[in-house]
Amino acid sequence: MIQQRDITVYGALWCPDCRRSKQFLAEHRIPYRWVDIEQEPAAQDTVRRLNRGRQIIPTIVFGDGGPILAEPSNAELAARLDINPRASRSHYDLIIVGAGPAGLTAAIYAAREGMDTLIIERGGVGGQAGSTERIDNYPGFAQGITGADLADNMREQAERFGVEFLVAQTVACVYPGPDSAGVRTITTETGQQYRAPALLLTPGTRYRRLNVPGEDDFIGAGVHFCATCDGPFYAGKETLVVGGGNSGVEEGLFLTRFASRVTVLEVGDRLRASQVLQDTAAAHPQMDIRLNTTVREFRGNGKLDSVLVEDVRTGEQDVLRPAGVFVFIGLDPNTAFLSDVVELDQRGFIVTGSGPDSLPMETSRHGIFAAGDARAGSTKQVAAAVGEGAAALIGIRAHMEDEIPNRGYPGD
Ligand SMILES: Cc1cc2nc3c(=O)[nH]c(=O)nc-3n(C[C@H](O)[C@H](O)[C@H](O)COP(=O)(O)OP(=O)(O)OC[C@H]3O[C@@H](n4cnc5c(N)ncnc54)[C@H](O)[C@@H]3O)c2cc1C
Repeated sequence: MIQQRDITVYGALWCPDCRRSKQFLAEHRIPYRWVDIEQEPAAQDTVRRLNRGRQIIPTIVFGDGGPILAEPSNAELAARLDINPRASRSHYDLIIVGAGPAGLTAAIYAAREGMDTLIIERGGVGGQAGSTERIDNYPGFAQGITGADLADNMREQAERFGVEFLVAQTVACVYPGPDSAGVRTITTETGQQYRAPALLLTPGTRYRRLNVPGEDDFIGAGVHFCATCDGPFYAGKETLVVGGGNSGVEEGLFLTRFASRVTVLEVGDRLRASQVLQDTAAAHPQMDIRLNTTVREFRGNGKLDSVLVEDVRTGEQDVLRPAGVFVFIGLDPNTAFLSDVVELDQRGFIVTGSGPDSLPMETSRHGIFAAGDARAGSTKQVAAAVGEGAAALIGIRAHMEDEIPNRGYPGD
């Protein structure tokens, strides 16, 4: 599929489209060279020359010598990289939204039972797990496994059973139906429609923001939400991690590979991370923990310059000057496109099992199932998402047997 080599992305840290393009390449595990045009003035001339005098970023140059891309959408980038923009058919037995661990597991189970399965993913395969540096607590990998390897293995296993992948396509809406033929319809952002008698929703979650002044202004220019993506920019520099839960401490430890010093801010009076992580952080020579402290404002001029923090007990304020800040304060579900489709809880997580006759993992809509981090009450771990993907298949199998009695999905 992707044969591109020597991809160079010209951009700047403050540029959101540069961040999006880099994330797209990272999620698809496509190596690229990053050139910050603010750090390399000669690169600004290159960008202007490539764009006939205009300074457009990101400008992306490909090693095959073919057309460059200036400020491309993800769909344009996908097309340039020969990532298939369409599924091969319009009708499947099961369509899964989201190729994280929950969706991938369900896809493996479904295809192995003979269901024609399509999985639609807006980014790259693997979900949040796929972009996590290292997963140490997923059973079966004694030495841990990188998120990328786990995602690649799951994809390979799913493809072995015939699962079809449609990546770089966002599902924009779901028509729950069922229509007279008993099918539900999914529409992608580009207007393609796909139909199936059963749908599984595994859209996962996204990072929560602090919602303080300056946060939006400096995203990608000093404020980050993904240490794996952006940590290497801070080699030899001081960084701040906001949030003392598992994600904050884990990512803080990861950042110590690059940063000279990592300070973890926690608003509570103790860290919420597991004891093992707390002990590791406490013993780490490059890490500091600052409790009872919250961020009030991000300040700077085009680029983050300082962070105003406050002691929540005394109200005393302090100005910190880290080179970069990584925010890990929780997650919100990716369910905006489902608000009129299935029942969501107050925080937007998908409710399952609310009806008297609900099948396992079935939403408020018959024939539509949900699993993984976006499901209300889920555990938000890879092992749990994998388990939920498998459990959803029990419900989907029962539903399919009702809908298409002679089809036969034997299971194990
Ligand atoms: C920084 C970090 C570190 C972590 N470390 C660990 C760890 O060490 N161990 C552990 O067990 N867990 C860890 N987790 C948690 C783990 O990654 C998640 O629990 C797991 O990935 C959830 O799987 P999921 O399939 O439910 O959702 P996700 O992995 O979030 O996947 C959902 C997928 O759906 C896609 N999607 C969303 N909306 C749409 C749409 N409209 N159309 C198409 N596609 C869509 C998303 O792009 C995404 O790829 C970590 C999480 C983070 C953020």
